[in-house]
Amino acid sequence: MADKYTEFVSRGWGRDLAKRLGLPQPVALRRYEPGAPLTPGPVLIIGTGQAADALETALKGWDIEVRRASGEAHDGGDSPSSSISPSTAPTGGARPTTGGRLGAIVLALDGIERPEDLSAPVLTAGKALRSLAPSGRVVTVSRRSSTQDGPALAAARAGVEGILRSLAKELRSGATGNGILLAEGVPADAPSALGALRFLLSGRSAFVDGQFLTVGTAKGGLPADGALPGEVMGASWDRPLAGKVAVVTGAARGIGAAIARTLARDGATVVGVDVPAAGDALAKVVNEVRGTALQLDITKPEAGERILEHALHRHGGLDILVHNAGITRDKLLANMDAAKWDSVIAVNIASQLRINEALLASGRLGEGFRIVSVASTSGIAGNRGQTNYAASKAGVVGMVRSTAARLAATGGTANAVAPGFIETEMTARIPFATREVARRLNSLQQGGQPVDVAEAIAFLASDAAGGISGNVLRVCGQNMVGQ
Ligand code: NAD
Repeated sequence: MADKYTEFVSRGWGRDLAKRLGLPQPVALRRYEPGAPLTPGPVLIIGTGQAADALETALKGWDIEVRRASGEAHDGGDSPSSSISPSTAPTGGARPTTGGRLGAIVLALDGIERPEDLSAPVLTAGKALRSLAPSGRVVTVSRRSSTQDGPALAAARAGVEGILRSLAKELRSGATGNGILLAEGVPADAPSALGALRFLLSGRSAFVDGQFLTVGTAKGGLPADGALPGEVMGASWDRPLAGKVAVVTGAARGIGAAIARTLARDGATVVGVDVPAAGDALAKVVNEVRGTALQLDITKPEAGERILEHALHRHGGLDILVHNAGITRDKLLANMDAAKWDSVIAVNIASQLRINEALLASGRLGEGFRIVSVASTSGIAGNRGQTNYAASKAGVVGMVRSTAARLAATGGTANAVAPGFIETEMTARIPFATREVARRLNSLQQGGQPVDVAEAIAFLASDAAGGISGNVLRVCGQNMVGQ
């Protein structure tokens, strides 16, 4: 799946040449495969207290070898092992590790009160970085800062975000750094805190880098093989969407087809929606995933009712709606005409608003309904020639934040993923030089694959993400543009 440049600089004289010239040297990322180990080695937890202990219990429950470091004082030594406890045996069967290299470093920073408190745990992590395996992970677990916090507490909590985003830019060999922000009162072992931890440790988050997931509530549940509180019967970590019915718009190709395949792999029954002109391609995708097709232009006024009727009539319910269909009609604003502007707004945001309105007003959705919308980094950072597209995608962000509040009463959630550069037919149309720059301008120095976006959506659609709502998760390899 690697692009040709990545293949060229990965071995032999291509690798030597790239090194000599200081060219980007992207590596093949570790992506999720059912049954594969969750991390490429043991996990080092830095920190003391309840959160660190709870994380250790959870990781051992997932059959991971755990090491601990207090992160309380600078040990002054060169080797991270000087401050790390001997590894503790996993509770379950043995699993492979990569020559003792760490699969991940987890920093439990929920107890910090002043910026000075960051020093010891963060410097301990710094020393351990030399032992991090390729495609390893750094995950911070800390508290979301709020206006209720005193200035020192707010500074310390906000400081974690600066550290993590900078550290993610320093990591190499496919390793990533991401954080979990807990709202006040949400424990570190709340279902969605553990769900987010597992997602971020796994190959499912391969192209998520330098990002934070905010866990706002202790809602949600974990699959029953987690042996942890809040388990959901019938689901498993390899099939977290078992028994769910999911609708995916724009499913005939690109990211939408990957979403349909990924949700089906995770156990969901999938309804693929796309325009009648894409009927053949749509049929191929839904046949492959044993789902059903709904040929529908989502800008039609009756689109919401048609989606609901199809899901209820053919599959007996509707649990997950993924708004993926989208178009671009790029022009500098000085040259923009009404047709280009209006068509992008109509497909990318107005249809989503209308469909959500119809579904929420129907009273026929079950508890815990999930909406996941596809936004774009262009909507966050802005992009030349894309005022119409950015209006629609920033609109998606505004929409999910507002819809999250409306769904809260019934345990539902609304979130967005914002892809950066993803290798699809949409981006294949970008002229070569522009495409090559856009593709490399992120911490992982490569474009993402459609499945990377799909994995993030599958996580946000799962019961494990029930405490995560109103979030915008960038899947962009930490694109250098924007926040
Ligand atoms: P794509 O053009 O390959 O696929 C989009 C699909 O949506 C097509 O199958 C198309 O037929 C369908 N569609 C378009 N209008 C529709 C309508 N009115 N009704 C029903 N279906 C319709 O695009 P993609 O690259 O797979 O992008 C998918 C989503 O991801 C879009 O929302 C896009 O804006 C977003 N995105 C993509 C990238 C990227 O790098 N490819 C980056 C950021 C965001």
